[in-house]
Amino acid sequence: MGRGNSMMIGIPKGSDWTKRRKSLQVRVRDMYIGSEHPVAVQSMTNTNTGDVKGTVAQIVELYKAGSELVRFTVQNKEMARAVMPIRKALDDLGYNIPLIGDFHYNGHQLLTEVPECADALDKYRINPGNVGFGEKHDDNFRKIIDVAKDHGKPVRIGVNWGSLDQSVLTKLMDDNTRSKTPKTAEEVTVDAVVESAVQSVNKAVEYGMEPDRIIVSTKISEVPYMVRAYELLAPRIEQPLHLGLTEAGLGSKGIAASSAALSLLLTKGIGDTIRVSLTPTPGSSRAEEVTVARQILQSLDIRHFSPLVSSCPGCGRTTSTVFQEMAQELTGYLQDRMPDWKSAGYAGVEGMKVAVMGCVVNGPGESKRANLGISLPGSGENPSCLIYEDGKHVASVKASEASEEFKKHIERYVESHYQKPIAEKERSH
Ligand code: SF4
Repeated sequence: MGRGNSMMIGIPKGSDWTKRRKSLQVRVRDMYIGSEHPVAVQSMTNTNTGDVKGTVAQIVELYKAGSELVRFTVQNKEMARAVMPIRKALDDLGYNIPLIGDFHYNGHQLLTEVPECADALDKYRINPGNVGFGEKHDDNFRKIIDVAKDHGKPVRIGVNWGSLDQSVLTKLMDDNTRSKTPKTAEEVTVDAVVESAVQSVNKAVEYGMEPDRIIVSTKISEVPYMVRAYELLAPRIEQPLHLGLTEAGLGSKGIAASSAALSLLLTKGIGDTIRVSLTPTPGSSRAEEVTVARQILQSLDIRHFSPLVSSCPGCGRTTSTVFQEMAQELTGYLQDRMPDWKSAGYAGVEGMKVAVMGCVVNGPGESKRANLGISLPGSGENPSCLIYEDGKHVASVKASEASEEFKKHIERYVESHYQKPIAEKERSH
């Protein structure tokens, strides 16, 4: 039986992040979102949706990186009309990925005037702060809900503090000025974000939307306030929650801020889908946000996608870069082999842990905690490399042959420790 094939391995006893907040289950195309299902990874394109070819290419890129749902903006009629050919192209290529249309200001018009778009999409994202003002707000919101009902589609009510429903905010600000213990403006804004989400859910249900066709998000760009908003929202509604730190930023700042925000919530069992809103560096792949989202889930042992390599940072005890190169090579090797192992049916191999350590100080100990580990010789140490399997020292190999020998151990370990389906086993005999 394969190790690591449980949804939650390695989480210390006493930690409570194995407990998901209970939510309804929402069907989006052929997948379900909610507490009974794995936390799903979502992403968003940055192509012009009207450019069918470019958008399809990016959706495929995001899908191949592991995105399980993809959202794109639908801003005008040209984009609305592009949704059908996008869907068709993906279907023709065999990609059954759910597509979400992101609407602001004119969603009620586009969805009614281009009904094929409403039909081709699998979910509509509505921002209650951007559906119109005054009386128009409720009318427009209702029109979108009516379209969703007519086409049997779920919606995400996505509140964003950068485009908050001003009527909700103004009321809470007024209440706050009369309070004996007034809150800060930011605290009131967080309350207004949550209130807007709850009121919108209630309104959608009042308009006839089934409660299990609604997903909710309250996105804020600052970690403490974003976390607080979801903490306040979670006990007030029964719908699944989509998590995201909006405008997370560029590079390491965006990755660190998103990891902090999402982890604080996921470890409390809050969150049913996640998105990492990275600003891509010029020329970089849009799919980086998917890789980061998956790595957050895998680092928390919430889901496993591909075997991970743990490696030490290196220090003065190891003057060679051999172990850095080996960690890099093995990371690539495991990523390359994963599709083959998966298609061969090795259940649980995605949870395999591999350690590459620079010297004898932490090497053997850390290597023993992984499924497979290799401890390289540090400066002045015996030049052989120690290989461990499930904590047992199984081989000592020459440094020059370490990488190739370790790969052979990995292959043998996968063969013997991760169960193939019976039919697969029989076929191979
Ligand atoms: S395992 Fe050895 S080389 Fe790596 S950081 Fe620790 S002491 Fe330094």
